[in-house]
Amino acid sequence: MKAQPILRLLGCMLLACAAICGVLAGCAPSTSEGERARVKSDVEAMADLEETVREPEATEVPPSSEPEPETQPAPAPITSPEAVLAEGAAVEERIANGDASAKICYLTFDDGPSDNTLDILGTLRNKGVYATFFIKGNSDRIDLVKDISDAGHGIGLHTFTHDYAQLYANDNAYFADLAAVQDAVSSRIGRTVDIVRFPGGTSNTVSANYSKGIMSRLVQSVPAQGYQFFDWNASGGDSATPPPPAADIAANALGGAGGMQRVCVLMHDTTVKRTTVEALPAIIDGLREQGYTFGILTHDTPPFHHGANN
Ligand SMILES: [Zn+2]
Repeated sequence: MKAQPILRLLGCMLLACAAICGVLAGCAPSTSEGERARVKSDVEAMADLEETVREPEATEVPPSSEPEPETQPAPAPITSPEAVLAEGAAVEERIANGDASAKICYLTFDDGPSDNTLDILGTLRNKGVYATFFIKGNSDRIDLVKDISDAGHGIGLHTFTHDYAQLYANDNAYFADLAAVQDAVSSRIGRTVDIVRFPGGTSNTVSANYSKGIMSRLVQSVPAQGYQFFDWNASGGDSATPPPPAADIAANALGGAGGMQRVCVLMHDTTVKRTTVEALPAIIDGLREQGYTFGILTHDTPPFHHGANN
């Protein structure tokens, strides 16, 4: 093989060297026994030499320098709510520190649970995305709030009745409704909820028909009770009646998000809003293409506030 000529050459050099050394040292062998001993030791030396020459050949192409096998596992996807919350907080910090490349999106569903909730949860699971649901306490499907919570999504309080005349009649009426939805939710999920969304948003003016200035008061008194409230800055436009086609809802959500670093998308989880369910895969895919990380709203999330108009 390749090493043979080199070995032969090195062997000859060794023999010649040994002979010269012997002569120079004045100990040239005089007996055939001495000659045999010297040849034997030369053979052993050659064997040793062969070992040392072969070793690098054996490792000439180390395995580590071979191309990576195609079965190399992909980085593990984020699969736990805890990891999503940690990543969301990290993205928020980058945004706060002026990193223009950081983008986060919060998908939110109001008015559920409904007959569509399990389908929404299925799509979110398939896409590996977490969202936040603002719950309506008197929903026929209120028991599904446990499914939402168990799946790791964010839970917020929306209202118990969603009846503006009752809810916004006065401040005490609002807090009575809030206590009712808190009880309906916390009794089912086993923990108290500390984020809310006002029906109609903070900026609604409908409430002025029932109580002048109530929103301006609630934006102070609700946080004073330990809650953070969240409005939105993008919408699927699915509050319209009849519900828009799925393609329109997706276009509304993606167009509304476009360019903003922090996005909170309003959608609805009610039984009649089937097109919202149909639009959801395209909304998630489109937001991903725009570079968004999906976050879960918590009390500590920097809020989305419209500002009170009443
Ligand atoms: Zn609502």
